[in-house]
Amino acid sequence: MVIACPHALGLAIPLVVAISTSMTAKRGILIRDRRAFESAKDVNAVVFDKTGTLTEGKFGVTSVVSYIPEEKLLMLTASVEKNSEHIIARAIVEYAASKGIRPTSLAEFKAIPGKGVYARVDGREVYVGGPALLEELNIEINDEEVLKLQSQGKTVVFSIVDGKLAGAIALSDIIRSESYEAVKKLREMGVRTYILTGDAEEVARWAAKELGVDEYFAQVLPHEKAEKVQLLKKQGFTVAMVGDGINDAPALVNADVGIAIGAGTDVAIESADIILVKNDPRDVPVVIELSRKTYSKMYQNLSWAGGYNIFAIPPAAGILATYGLVLSPAIGALFMSLSTVIVAINSQTLRKYMPKAEEITITTEEEKKVEEVPAHAHHHYNH
Ligand code: ADP
Ligand code: MG
Repeated sequence: MVIACPHALGLAIPLVVAISTSMTAKRGILIRDRRAFESAKDVNAVVFDKTGTLTEGKFGVTSVVSYIPEEKLLMLTASVEKNSEHIIARAIVEYAASKGIRPTSLAEFKAIPGKGVYARVDGREVYVGGPALLEELNIEINDEEVLKLQSQGKTVVFSIVDGKLAGAIALSDIIRSESYEAVKKLREMGVRTYILTGDAEEVARWAAKELGVDEYFAQVLPHEKAEKVQLLKKQGFTVAMVGDGINDAPALVNADVGIAIGAGTDVAIESADIILVKNDPRDVPVVIELSRKTYSKMYQNLSWAGGYNIFAIPPAAGILATYGLVLSPAIGALFMSLSTVIVAINSQTLRKYMPKAEEITITTEEEKKVEEVPAHAHHHYNH
């Protein structure tokens, strides 16, 4: 009679999965794809979208460089931007409104993804957008003031009226305070970090330097974001992509682990394997660490349970009887229970890796943002 039945073996995996799932859920880390969570243990490159992921994604206009009367520039620009949902657009419309400038009606509006917007306003052709748009329109900027603003990390968008550069508007966004810690932690864990952004080279360089991020890819168009992820994978990295926007969706899908920040768009959330509900980039190193711990616990349990059974089954079956070694059914049963208990206790120790509650501080500001999620989908241009 074989009494050393592999009870513990059957528990080794599901017990750990159950505990790690409850831990991640409590922390606001939703795992949509368990296989991706498993890959997280091998992640050695993390690619962050900049705007809305590492930064707050709340822009405010800080200065206007104008080559035509400023009021005219703001009127034309705000009129086009009024039709755009982009956070940059909303900031510009709000700024113009604060200056008492009312947008006028327009025709032929179109959005150019990752570049900007276009419309006819008052019979003029108006383009508003970033460096990629200037490239497309073959317009060069050599304004010292603009370069200076960009090297300070400001996002600068340009207005092109009837083919001529009419002005530039600088906006600033704030780096989330949690981003500093997230990047630092990842580096300590030996993970390489990257910034991926549609913004200008200077702005990306500034943000990378500020945060201590290893490398950046700037002026990346939405469809190229996925290509950059592929490139890193080809170089042999196991890549996690962290993003919030529609633009990030293909990159999230292409990464080994796609992580969406909770306040992002539905499209980003749909494309991700893991969702950080608390909107905190510090949860990225937590995901990697928890994955590492979860899977090492599984291996430990398997060796405990497996090891016990390998040693206990033969004597229980009387194979070693000629050497005088027989595991009596009673002792076998005791050992069997013991190995199950060890597996159960070992699984529970996973809980001690959970960051303490006080480390999970969310400011009221962020809480507000989490609640505001649906506001992303609304169009509220006027205040
Ligand atoms: P990110 O990759 O940083 O999240 P996006 O891909 O949304 O940014 O946009 C990339 C760049 O395209 C912006 O930094 C900006 O220069 C330009 N852009 C996009 N939409 C607009 C808009 N509505 N108005 C002005 N500029 C825009
Ligand atoms: Mg973004």
